Parts: sequence; structure tokens; C-alpha cells
Amino acid sequence: MTWQPVDCHAHTTMSDGALSVAALVARARALGVQPSVADHISHDVVRSLKSIDGVRAYLDTLDHYDVRRGGEFCWHDSLWRELPADLVPRFTHRIGSLHAIALDDGTLVHAFSRRFPPTLSPRTYMKAFIANLERLAREMPVDILAHPTLIAASLNDRPPEEVWRESDEERAVEALYAAGIAFEISNRYPPHERIVRRAVDRGVRISLGSDGHSPAQVADVGRPLALARSLNVPDDELYDPRRHGSKTTAPEHQRT
Ligand SMILES: [Zn+2]
Ligand SMILES: [Zn+2]
Repeated sequence: MTWQPVDCHAHTTMSDGALSVAALVARARALGVQPSVADHISHDVVRSLKSIDGVRAYLDTLDHYDVRRGGEFCWHDSLWRELPADLVPRFTHRIGSLHAIALDDGTLVHAFSRRFPPTLSPRTYMKAFIANLERLAREMPVDILAHPTLIAASLNDRPPEEVWRESDEERAVEALYAAGIAFEISNRYPPHERIVRRAVDRGVRISLGSDGHSPAQVADVGRPLALARSLNVPDDELYDPRRHGSKTTAPEHQRT
């Protein structure tokens, strides 16, 4: 079979997506894309899998389809730490997300909140963001960092090349490289080219993600693929859990 891109990150009605698993698979196949389901597994997303029994039922459902079995876990939430060992190898890949950043005093700043703490400077926020990212890379058993450049919405009116210092990008890329975590090029939250180039130059694996929730979004990885190709990433080096495996389900992680 000729190579087809893998959409490692998409949602179904089992969390906050609009498509059933069958419809997601059909949509991806129609676009010539290999599908994954990666629903939210977190106490802190409104429509999400919130229990271990729910995760087990989710994986049971996915077993009925020819689809990669992912999950998107919030770093700031506890559920990923509670996953029992027997469920771990049933995921083809796991995704970590920085949907909220813990400041030094423990305050959580949610990416989608309109209320950015008035006394918090963008620089202090970015320092905390990078510190959270580094801890995620050290502690969280995931294969992919979702939408690595998703930051608090109120900072999005400034160019990302200003909000992100080059030293921030270097630390983020180095943390992912050291942990063997892939950098997602998200179609929903597109990263600026400079940081993707830095990740590629460092040898960080690249992953494509639609982060699709609606029928039109699911499996749409055309722009992420074009960006990866423009940076000379070979197609078959783009992350595919079936081809490259999962660092989180490698034998040393499977022992109970
Ligand atoms: Zn996300
Ligand atoms: Zn997502």
C-alpha cells in the first residue's frame, strides 16, 4: 500500500467530538488518511472519559474497529496517573496536553479561560508554561505532546515569535527530545514555523494531528503534512504508532 498520513489525534462522541467511531474511520478513509481515535481522558474536560471503567469500555469499543487507539490526557489532571497497568498496553499511543498551566503558587491558568490573571505578566506565564512542559516530559508516559504551542488565549493577539523567546523554544524542544516525545503539528492550533523547524533540526519526531471534533475537521492533516514536508521530514518518519511503536507500552512499561 502506498504511504498515507496518520491522523494521531481526533475526537469522537465518546468525548467531545461529533462523529461516531465508524463515521470517523469512514471520513478518514475518504480523505486517504489513516485514523486514530484519541478522546479526552480527564476529570477537567466537560465532555470526557472521567473514570477507569469508562476508559475500559472505550478501549473495548475501539477494539471493534481498524483504528489506532489513542487518548488525550491533561497533564494538570490526575487521571493519567491512575491508569491501571492492564489498560496501558491497550493504547497504541498516548497524548499529553497542557490545557492548564500551574503557576509557582499552585494557581491553574486554563488555556481557554477568558480570565487571564491581571497581575500575571506574559513572561511569567511563559516561564511557568515551559516549566510545566519540562515536568510533563519527565513524568508523563506519553508519545505525543498535543498542540505544543497552545497558550493562554489572551496571549494570542501577539505574534508567537515574540511571546515565545528562542530560549523557550530550545528548552521545550530539548525536553521533548530527551523524553522521546513527538511534537504534534496541530491543524487546530497551528504552531509557528520557527519552533517546528527547531524540533526537526534537533531530531524530535513529528506527529500530525487534526484534533478534529467536527466532520469537516476530522482527519484534515493537509496543512500539517505540508509544513512537515516543507521542513524535509520524510513521510515515513512522521509518527505512526503502528510503525514506530509506543514508548509508553514498551516492554519495560508493561510489567506490573
Ligand atoms: Zn487538546
Ligand atoms: Zn484534542
